[in-house]
Amino acid sequence: MRQRLPVETYTKGVLAGDRATLSRAITVMESSLPDDRALAGQILQNILPHTGKSIRIGITGVPGVGKSTFIESFGVYLTSLGKRVAVLAVDPSSKQSGGSILGDKTRMEKLARDPNAYIRPSPTNLSLGGVARHTREAILLCEAAGYDMILVETVGVGQSETLVKGMTDFFLLLMLAGAGDELQGIKKGIMEMVDAVAVNKADSGNELAVAKAVSEYRQALHLFPEPPSKVPIQVVACSALEGIGMKAIWKLISDYYAQTSEHGFLQQNRQFQRVDWLREQIRQLLEDRFYENEWVKKHIAAMDEAVRSGEKVPGEAAADLINAFLLNSAKS
Ligand code: GDP
Repeated sequence: MRQRLPVETYTKGVLAGDRATLSRAITVMESSLPDDRALAGQILQNILPHTGKSIRIGITGVPGVGKSTFIESFGVYLTSLGKRVAVLAVDPSSKQSGGSILGDKTRMEKLARDPNAYIRPSPTNLSLGGVARHTREAILLCEAAGYDMILVETVGVGQSETLVKGMTDFFLLLMLAGAGDELQGIKKGIMEMVDAVAVNKADSGNELAVAKAVSEYRQALHLFPEPPSKVPIQVVACSALEGIGMKAIWKLISDYYAQTSEHGFLQQNRQFQRVDWLREQIRQLLEDRFYENEWVKKHIAAMDEAVRSGEKVPGEAAADLINAFLLNSAKS
């Protein structure tokens, strides 16, 4: 059994930048046990005044595009500038090759050894919603621990991109030259979410193909409406393996940060994200309470059966259950 520490121990340790305590605090955030949720809430409330000072960067792209290699290269570049870098992942077990981001530690060898970097292995056995919730909380903890660059990795699949977009300031899409837009899932939806595109693997004789892809993407992006940040989407070439383009990418991120801070979009976006988070928490809490309710536990199987056999439509069944749940919880 994991030992629960007093809330002050977590708070002080995190604020002092102690990694072991930071890790333990994130573990509390990942837990769904009611006692841990209460503890998580108290820790977050205590550290809240010390959050918000980092640049939060989401990084996405199909498996194999070079995200881990990029994070290693970019992270090492940032620590060389004196920045403190935290790496988080949003996919329940992100690697199709089997391992989670823990396995990536081998590919992030330098960064993992860097005293100014913190890599959090991605949690296993959590739903995407659970991972998203804990990642938001982990971002705040890392900020309180003094990390000023938070890199959040996600595989470019399904809902996870939208979730990461909803918790970061800047969203970077990694792509490859010549892999075909469809293959890379370049749907309009994704392009509307990104702030910059980096075409990776501009090395080993692949430089020309990457340059061509860069100019094609630049042209294609002209057709898109102006992003809400009012900062045009940038397209650059890079080689994560050779560390080429890291300086340019940092420059465009810091320019973006400066511009959006100045005209207020950054702050507005974060406010919007916080309200969005509140909505999500409400949804989650209601759902938890609903399924924990004794009356619901007793009657839900019969309702499942009624829906399965076609006797009731799901909407009606859901309304019946929820009305009964509300009546029931008002009584108790
Ligand atoms: P991820 O699945 O997106 O995290 O991709 P990885 O970082 O695991 O990289 C997938 C493969 O591409 C690995 O074999 C890397 O060594 C290779 N790779 C990543 N970045 C580059 C790059 O800039 N140039 C070249 N040539 N290979 C790269």
